[in-house]
Amino acid sequence: MIAASAMTWAPHFSRAFGATSGDFGASTAKPSFPVTDYHVHLSPELTIDKALALGKERGVQLGVLEHPGPNFAIRTDADLKQYIGTLRKYPVQIGLQPVYLGWSKAFSKDLLGQLDYILMDALTLPKRDGGYIELWQVTTQYDDEQAFMHCYTEFIEQILTTEPIDIFGWPTFLPVAIARDYSQLWTRPRIEHIIELAAARKIAIEINEASHVPDETFIQLAKQAGLKFTFGTDSRNQNAAHFSYCYQLAQKCGLTESDMFVPRKK
Ligand SMILES: [Zn+2]
Repeated sequence: MIAASAMTWAPHFSRAFGATSGDFGASTAKPSFPVTDYHVHLSPELTIDKALALGKERGVQLGVLEHPGPNFAIRTDADLKQYIGTLRKYPVQIGLQPVYLGWSKAFSKDLLGQLDYILMDALTLPKRDGGYIELWQVTTQYDDEQAFMHCYTEFIEQILTTEPIDIFGWPTFLPVAIARDYSQLWTRPRIEHIIELAAARKIAIEINEASHVPDETFIQLAKQAGLKFTFGTDSRNQNAAHFSYCYQLAQKCGLTESDMFVPRKK
C-alpha cells in the first residue's frame, strides 16, 4: 500500500520547484514558431505587470491560471467571473487548473466556456481511505511501486476520460522517491494507454519545464498519435516564460507550429 507521510497543504507545486532556474551550459534556441507559457501562476512576487515584462523580454506569450475549489481563491461563479474579468484587460490567455475530480460542478457551463483553456494534472492523488497524496512532496514514501503505479494510472484514466480539460499537465511525473525507475515504471503499454485516452478527447500534452516531463519517447509517440503540445513552467516567480527543457525537446522531437495547442475559439 501507499504510505503518505507528507500531507501538509502547500499552495501546489511551484513551492517545491520554486528555486531559481540555473543556466548551465549552452541553452537551446527558441523555436521559430510563436511560444506561449501556458502554466503561469500570479503571486505577490509575480504580478501581472512583472509577468508581462518577463514574457516580453523572453519573447513568450503567457497563459495565466489559478486553482479552483476548496482551499483556493476561486470557489463560486462570482469568484470565477471576477477572475476572468480582471485578466481580460491584459494580453494573456486565461486558464484554470483544477486539482480535484468533479471540480466543475461548482461552476456554470457558460462561465467555464469563457475560459481559454483548462489544464489538469494527476499529482493530487486521492487515497482510498480519504485524503490525498501530493506527489510533488519530496518526503512522501512509496512502499510498493507497482501498487502505486496501478492507483496513479487509474487516477490519470479518470481525469482523461471524465474531466472537461484541454491540457494534461505534468504527464508521467513520478515522485522523487521512485523517479529513478521512470523507464521501468512507464512501460510502453502504460504510455500508449495514456496517449490513446488523450487522443480520444483531443487533450493536449504539457511539456513541463519544472519537472522535465514527459521524456522524449513519450513525446515522439504522442506526436505520432497526432496529439498537440504546450510548454509550461508552473512558475509563480521569475521563472515564468523561461524555457530550456521544453525548447530542447521541441528540437529533438521536431515539433513544429502545427504540433502546438491552440486555445479554444470563442
Ligand atoms: Zn500549476
